[in-house]
Amino acid sequence: MGDVFISLGSNIGDRKKNILEAIHLLDNPPEIIIEKKSSLYSTDPIGYVGQDWFLNSVVEIMTRLSPKELLSRCQAIEEQMGRVRTMPWGPRIIDLDILLYGGEIIEDDELIIPHPHLHKRGFVLVPLAEIAPDILHPRLNKTAVELLRQIKDGHKVDVYREC
Ligand code: ATP
Ligand code: CA
Ligand code: CA
Repeated sequence: MGDVFISLGSNIGDRKKNILEAIHLLDNPPEIIIEKKSSLYSTDPIGYVGQDWFLNSVVEIMTRLSPKELLSRCQAIEEQMGRVRTMPWGPRIIDLDILLYGGEIIEDDELIIPHPHLHKRGFVLVPLAEIAPDILHPRLNKTAVELLRQIKDGHKVDVYREC
């Protein structure tokens, strides 16, 4: 399956190293092949304020794994890297979310695809639009660039390209 996108975020420790390590752990041919990587973006935290800024990135992968298997793989990487779950949206060493899995729409207790907040988050849409401007959100039928324009019209997007 192609057109699969994963977002990565970190705001504890060496954030850049954490993101690069998670991408390295994801890259596991032939099950998962990294096709494209966005730049790294420094972003203002949402949810629980008073925590450090995040570094965020999005990768496009090609994978043989099912959506559920891919979620398990992402969670295994989070665990392996020592993520401790504290408060929702609190600080984390690494967070891996599945944004899109081709044109599939999935809604069950443990997995929602497209990611339920994808269309509202600048820190996800900016890197996504960098590597896949024309990718379609299968439920909203809008491209990444269109979704980004929509939120930019509404409010300021605190997302800064780092490297
Ligand atoms: P948010 O979902 O708002 O970005 P979060 O990433 O901090 O919040 P987590 O604590 O990492 O939330 O994950 C909570 C649960 O979300 C996971 O246990 C997982 O089952 C579920 N989940 C549902 N859809 C997805 C998805 N597309 N990608 C990753 N996890 C998902
Ligand atoms: Ca998340
Ligand atoms: Ca998550």
